[in-house]
Amino acid sequence: MMQPVSTTTTGLTCPDCAERLYRVDNGPSWCPACEWNLGNLGEALTAPRGWGWLVRRSHRTAFRLDQEQFTKYSARRPDGPEPSTVGRILLAVSLLLIAVVAATAAYGVVLITHGGLAFVGGAALILVAVVLRPRLGKLPKRGHRLKRTDYPALYSLVDQVAQAAGAHAPDVIAVDFAFNASTWRAGIRQRRVLNLGLPLWLVLEPQQHVALLAHEIGHQVNGDPMRSLLVQPAMRTFGALARYTHVSQRSFDRVMYGSPRAAGRGALLELLIMLAMKLFSSICLLIHAALNALGFRDRQRAEYLADGIAVDIAGSTAMIGLADRLILMPQIANIIGYNAETQRVSQWRALADTLSTSRAEQLPLLRQLTARNTTLWAQHPPAGLRARMAEAWPATEPRVSLTAQESTAINAELRDWFKATHAKILGSRSFRGRN
Ligand SMILES: [Zn+2]
Ligand SMILES: [Zn+2]
Repeated sequence: MMQPVSTTTTGLTCPDCAERLYRVDNGPSWCPACEWNLGNLGEALTAPRGWGWLVRRSHRTAFRLDQEQFTKYSARRPDGPEPSTVGRILLAVSLLLIAVVAATAAYGVVLITHGGLAFVGGAALILVAVVLRPRLGKLPKRGHRLKRTDYPALYSLVDQVAQAAGAHAPDVIAVDFAFNASTWRAGIRQRRVLNLGLPLWLVLEPQQHVALLAHEIGHQVNGDPMRSLLVQPAMRTFGALARYTHVSQRSFDRVMYGSPRAAGRGALLELLIMLAMKLFSSICLLIHAALNALGFRDRQRAEYLADGIAVDIAGSTAMIGLADRLILMPQIANIIGYNAETQRVSQWRALADTLSTSRAEQLPLLRQLTARNTTLWAQHPPAGLRARMAEAWPATEPRVSLTAQESTAINAELRDWFKATHAKILGSRSFRGRN
């Protein structure tokens, strides 16, 4: 079950530095010493027919941008949010979209007061405006929010981290069943939400918990959730338009090859409308992909910034350990899935530890491979680059340390949630059979 990643030497040497080349499975070989050909994803790049060039190009761009950013910030740690041109463009697009949606709604109201056929048009415009309205972040489900009084040890740790970061403590801490953690602002009152994925929590070491919390709270310090909220119309609207105007192949086939009785002028008109919708939908999708690529790239600096705060608070070792564990997360998730029936939740971390130890020798290669598997639409920089970045910065001792006793207290508070996590993983058949 725990196969090592099958990196093999190819027997060939690097054309640039004459070191041995490596490859994974049938992927293109690369040079671990000088990273020659690391950016080549080869056959692993899958794209819909006709889009290969765009996917290849975007991958090349993502790889190049990752490397440039890495070179820049590993030499000098980013020390605060920086306004960017991309950020301004996204904000301008968002404001424009909000204005257009508001105007659509207003015109809809005017039409409705006219009555008759105009009423139908007005109602349709209002519906469009409602669908495309800007959204405030949502609070997590009530049942998933943790009350401060019921989780004093967890809240106390989060408070310590927030204080060390000079940030407001989160207003709401919630949990879910994802191998992830996130933070955002929710509702009219813009409450600060910290959401912890329990499977992730369960496979981290205590001090890595501090690093995870410090990274998330670091986003609040930098104002990232507010920025995300402001540019959200640009990031979302065109995707929604593309989705609502999408014409399925089935609908096409129905009109093209449907019953002969339905043929004739009606069918031709329907076909033309469908073609127009398909064109509109494709254009919206392209704009959506472009705006999201810009938006996510703009956020990558914020991720390094939050990692910097995690290094300050949890110490370099914990942040590097967290990033390295993130590299292995897909394999950790699989192992937990495979062993869910026989292993208790309390054993999950040991499973993750064993895997990490067995991969220790390959770690430099695995870190490099995360850089190869980058995309323009990744929300975080490649985990391997995050680990190397934290290593490149001056080594820092932890300012908040989690004692074994505190860690046990937190885990005791979360016990029922851990049971629910176990049940959830047991129930998800999708974990089986994957490798
Ligand atoms: Zn080389
Ligand atoms: Zn982050």
